[in-house]
Amino acid sequence: MSCVANYIETKKSLPENVLLLAVSKTKPAEDIKALYDAGCRDFGENKVQELTAKHEVLPQDIRWHQIGHLQTNKIKYIIPFVYMIHSIDSLKLAEEVNKQAQKHGRIVNCLLQLKVAQEDTKFGFEISELKKMLEENAFAELKNIKLKGVMAMATNTENEAEIIKEFSLVKEFSDFVKTTYQNTVGEEFTEISMGMSEDYKLAVSCGSTIVRIGSSIFGERDYSNKN
Ligand SMILES: *Cc1c(COP(=O)(O)O)cnc(C)c1O
Repeated sequence: MSCVANYIETKKSLPENVLLLAVSKTKPAEDIKALYDAGCRDFGENKVQELTAKHEVLPQDIRWHQIGHLQTNKIKYIIPFVYMIHSIDSLKLAEEVNKQAQKHGRIVNCLLQLKVAQEDTKFGFEISELKKMLEENAFAELKNIKLKGVMAMATNTENEAEIIKEFSLVKEFSDFVKTTYQNTVGEEFTEISMGMSEDYKLAVSCGSTIVRIGSSIFGERDYSNKN
């Protein structure tokens, strides 16, 4: 099937309130344009250089999502246009994004990336660490970022019970923030970005509001020519 057909199929399988974020990393602008023509407006990339290059040549009303780890020295390249950053994984990064956003007169949507997987290579906050930071109001001064919710990746495993356990922890934390900090961050803390090609159905059943899907729309990625 074409990527457009895959996109339409996937979208049909999702509840209306779940955003399908098409993860277009490594894929050519033509594929993105084909999905755009089919109505898709939200695309995710994980490399700053690729994101900025695609932004330049594609329609300006696309909402670009940064989904991979972001180095502080690269923030400035995406800040003028990025719609949402899913990968805020340290207070320092949040502060740097805030600083750049302020320079550009923007308020940028951000998600806090949680570390829930069994793999220790993944970036993100420990839930306990984040609870402490929220208690200390660590994000309060950052007026140019809007904390819209959380993002997480589950362990890459066949063990569905483990995946469900991890996604449920994310949902539980999101509910905790919404109720505990109702009058501050809680008000707009509505997004839960979790679920990829292999596990998005489980993620949706656990309360995901944004699924990030790449290979099952665009096909397998080929990294062989990349260094
Ligand atoms: C690549 C990537 C995805 C999409 O993965 P697929 O398995 O191809 O759907 C989702 N989230 C992040 C953070 C990624 O880097």
